[in-house]
Amino acid sequence: MGGSFNPIHTGHLFLAEQARVCFQLQEVIFMPTGQPGYPKAELPVDSVYRMEMTLLAINDHPHFSLSSHEAEQDQPTFTIHTLKTFRKKYPSQTHELFFITGADAVRDILQWKEPEELLHLSQFIAGSRPQYALKEFKELMEQWPLAKTRIHFMQIPLLEISSRLIRDYLRQGKSIRYLVPASVEDYIYKHQLYSCERSVGQTS
Ligand code: ATP
Ligand code: MG
Repeated sequence: MGGSFNPIHTGHLFLAEQARVCFQLQEVIFMPTGQPGYPKAELPVDSVYRMEMTLLAINDHPHFSLSSHEAEQDQPTFTIHTLKTFRKKYPSQTHELFFITGADAVRDILQWKEPEELLHLSQFIAGSRPQYALKEFKELMEQWPLAKTRIHFMQIPLLEISSRLIRDYLRQGKSIRYLVPASVEDYIYKHQLYSCERSVGQTS
């Protein structure tokens, strides 16, 4: 499961857990992105912070693990390159690979680079996300012949949580308690990420 995880939140964890159970996955590997190589309106906090927050969020789950593969690259990474590397480590003769995303992100990933090749390398699990209709998703999937068998839409209860919402709440001094694990909340305050001020939700 790739993402900027800026920061990781309950929506990510819930999506990963639903995918794990639904598709009987042995392991879910969380892989925070490196720093983007192209100009963005808002840069994510350094990948070291995002890696540490992700580790804090998942370390009590026996089937969740962390990969530094993208975070440690100096160059901008593309999902296609990451999946090629993973395929070498987990060959198709012995392993099935599923790339877990939200339905919004699968669209972005497949519109990037070599969609057919991406679908050969890995299957995709696209979890439902607020404001992203199934109809729109299905229409999009018709563009790729392999999509029907390689992309699996997974309907899950919609949690209207995003990293952007959390960053906005922090800047406004609102509480993010229960939107992120307590360990991640503490970490954000300790390192004063996202220009947070002392929040109403902060207990220590
Ligand atoms: P931002 O608001 O900065 O875009 P985000 O909340 O979308 O962040 P990402 O790190 O971009 O988080 O997302 C990683 C993956 O998790 C994406 O595939 C995204 O679609 C999915 N995802 C994030 N939040 C949710 C959610 N609440 N429900 C389902 N999927 C989600
Ligand atoms: Mg996003």
